[in-house]
Amino acid sequence: MNQLKYYFYPNPHDEYAWTKCPQCDAKTKLRKFCLMIHYEEKPLNFRRMLSMRMECKFCPACELVTKKKSEIETYLRELVESWGMTFNSGNYFVFGTMEMQDWKQNQQTPMQPSEALDKIAPFKDILDFKIQPAGWYFTGDK
Ligand SMILES: [Zn+2]
Repeated sequence: MNQLKYYFYPNPHDEYAWTKCPQCDAKTKLRKFCLMIHYEEKPLNFRRMLSMRMECKFCPACELVTKKKSEIETYLRELVESWGMTFNSGNYFVFGTMEMQDWKQNQQTPMQPSEALDKIAPFKDILDFKIQPAGWYFTGDK
């Protein structure tokens, strides 16, 4: 069973750094998260799950993780183009996190995909996000 964890806000505004929490106005902290990303190119029937370690702004009281979309997309674009594909910002969503220790363990000794999926904590909610995770695995957990 996957435990839901954190709320996520993919920040579309480059001009806001969110030194304060957009929800409760408390000062945010910098914390490293291992973000889990789903990337999909429907016409090619291509799907891939990615993990990305990134420093995010975090409000412990709201359990809210924020990350600038542009920073996520810069990284993703490079990766997708390295696959010989064209990056499309409508093709991805960040759907959860993985504990850093699990991530490290997976880097050293890759887990079975099912085991790795068990370690993922999907977000409780994604704020201000338009894409609905279609055909993804976590529907039973809500
Ligand atoms: Zn807050």
